[in-house]
Amino acid sequence: MSERDLLMIPGPIEFDPAVLRALGQKTRGHLDPLFMQAFSRALKNLRVVFEAPSAQPFVVAGSGTLAMEMAVANLTQPGDRALVVNTGYFSDRLAAMLERHGAAVTHVRAAPGDAPTAEEVERALAGGPFKLLTVTHVDTSTAVLTPVQAYAQAAQRHGALVLVDGVCSVGGEALAMESWGVDVALTASQKALGVPPGLAVLLASPRAMAAWQARTRPVASVYLDFAEWLPIHQAYEAEKPAYFATPPVNLIAALDVSLQQLVAETMPARVRRHQATARWLRAAWQRLGLTMLPKSEALAAHTLSALYYPEGVDAALVKALGAEGVVVAGGLHPELKTRYFRVGHMGAVSMNDASAVVAALERVLKR
Ligand code: PMP
Repeated sequence: MSERDLLMIPGPIEFDPAVLRALGQKTRGHLDPLFMQAFSRALKNLRVVFEAPSAQPFVVAGSGTLAMEMAVANLTQPGDRALVVNTGYFSDRLAAMLERHGAAVTHVRAAPGDAPTAEEVERALAGGPFKLLTVTHVDTSTAVLTPVQAYAQAAQRHGALVLVDGVCSVGGEALAMESWGVDVALTASQKALGVPPGLAVLLASPRAMAAWQARTRPVASVYLDFAEWLPIHQAYEAEKPAYFATPPVNLIAALDVSLQQLVAETMPARVRRHQATARWLRAAWQRLGLTMLPKSEALAAHTLSALYYPEGVDAALVKALGAEGVVVAGGLHPELKTRYFRVGHMGAVSMNDASAVVAALERVLKR
């Protein structure tokens, strides 16, 4: 891959040069006042991005998978029941974690490209009681956007905590954690938050923190235990020195820059920008005769597109686009993996980038 190639996979993405410069700056000690200021600002800005003024943010070195396991490890203990809204590959991963931590898992499934309706989720909840309802906001394997708000309302009626995997949504899709009644929302740095891979980000509502406090058994991982991280994050937010495990100083400096840009753009404007780019791309896909994997427009994510290969075309398309300087991703859902490809369009992706993808796709399909 050349430095001028356009990285249009569903994460990592193209990053803003100011974010990359922050990553390349001198590494400060983790107790340096300037670092503590940056960490404190980043934690406060995360509450703005997640629209969760009362939530406790956690930022830990690791990928999105670690954020998922942190949520599961702190919120479940053996014998708990969890309902998994299963829309694909990443919902399966969450279910595997829940089972590893001793929970009994029930699935509400949908065919690839579809999502269970809120009524289906409510009927499944009625078969509880469940301690936890888990939802993949955008399942990156299918590009399906799930109706989190309606699911969360149903969960509240049945007294279940709501855990949202927002790895492919936070910073690009609308997610009002607090007003929607979401208890844990998590993401990773390399997607719509716009920072190179390496940070697991999780926000927990007061209800989630109370559920963690009410545990009768210790969390089965020291590195993931809120008990270790809570005093550290409270101290950093107050710009006071603290240590449990060395924070990824440069990545947090980059996160601070990216979140400042995000908050300046404002979340509503950012969501509208993602929607406008996605709408423009959908029209282009249609013009090129490409069919999207999500079953309807309402179920289609604004952060990425999943597109079936046209008749007579296979994964060679992804390679040919790479040769044109546009890097996209192949399929991921185990049932359909060889039949479609994916284009990421989140974070700093501009209309110029979107146009470049469409133009390259047009050239390659013509050939
Ligand atoms: N959940 C979703 C919805 C994702 O898209 C991803 C990454 N593609 C993950 C979880 C896992 O994140 P990571 O690869 O950073 O561990």
